[in-house]
Amino acid sequence: MDRDRLKKLAAEKRFIPGIYNYCDRWCERCPMTSRCLNFSISEEEFSDPEARDIRNKMFWDKLSGVLRESLELLRESARQWGVELETLDSPEDIENIKAKEAAVENHLLCRVAKRYSELVENWFRERESLFFETVAAAREGVSLDEAIEVIRWYQYFICAKVMRAVRGKMEEEEEGSGEFPSDSDGSAKIALIAMDRSIGAWAVIQQFITDGDRGGIDAIAFLDRLRQAVEETFSNARSFIRPGFDEK
Ligand code: SF4
Repeated sequence: MDRDRLKKLAAEKRFIPGIYNYCDRWCERCPMTSRCLNFSISEEEFSDPEARDIRNKMFWDKLSGVLRESLELLRESARQWGVELETLDSPEDIENIKAKEAAVENHLLCRVAKRYSELVENWFRERESLFFETVAAAREGVSLDEAIEVIRWYQYFICAKVMRAVRGKMEEEEEGSGEFPSDSDGSAKIALIAMDRSIGAWAVIQQFITDGDRGGIDAIAFLDRLRQAVEETFSNARSFIRPGFDEK
C-alpha cells in the first residue's frame, strides 16, 4: 500500500480513532472490524491467500512496505509538529528505558501474570492426550474447543497487557501526569477483560475433567487473585471507556 492510499484510508470517517489500542487483537472474533483502521490495512494488504501465508516471502515484503510507509508518515507528522525523532533516544534515554524495563519485569503484578502464562503452558502440556480425546468427544455442540481457544489466546496477552499497564503507571507517576482516563488504566482494563474471559473458559474446561484433577480450579483461583490485585492497583481500570467497545 502506498503512502497516499494509506493517508486516504486513514481519513475515512468510519474508523474509530485508537480503537486498536485497547482491544484484545483477536480480529477474527472482533465485532468492530469495520470501524478499525488497523484491520482494514491488514485486510487490504493481505487479502489474497498467498499473502496470508506467513512462510511466503510476499508477506514479509508487504509487511516491511507497510512499516516503511508508516515510518515515513510518522516522520512527516513529526516534522509538522517540530519534533526531531532522531534526537529522541540519547544514550541516557536508552539506559533509562532499560532500567524501566527491568523494574517493570520485576514488578509483582508482572511476575504473577508471567507465572500464569507458564502455568497454562504446563497444564496443557501435561494433559495433551486427555484433551485430544475430550475435545473430539465434545465436538457435538459443546464448546470445549472454544474454551481452549480462549485460554490459549489470552495466555500471554494477559501478561503483556499487565506489563504495559505497570510500565504506563510508572511513567505517569514519574511525569506526574495523573491524567484521566490514563493509558495504563486502558491496558489494565483489557487485561482484566482477558482474565474474566479466561476464568469463564477455565470453568467450561473444568466441567470436562472427570478424573478429579483440580488443575482448572487452581488456574481459576490463581487468575482470580491476579485479577483482584490488578483491580486494586488500577482502581479506575474497570470504568475506563475503550473507544468503540464501551461507548454507546
Ligand atoms: S479493534 Fe478489533 S479488528 Fe481492530 S485490531 Fe483490535 S481486534 Fe482487530
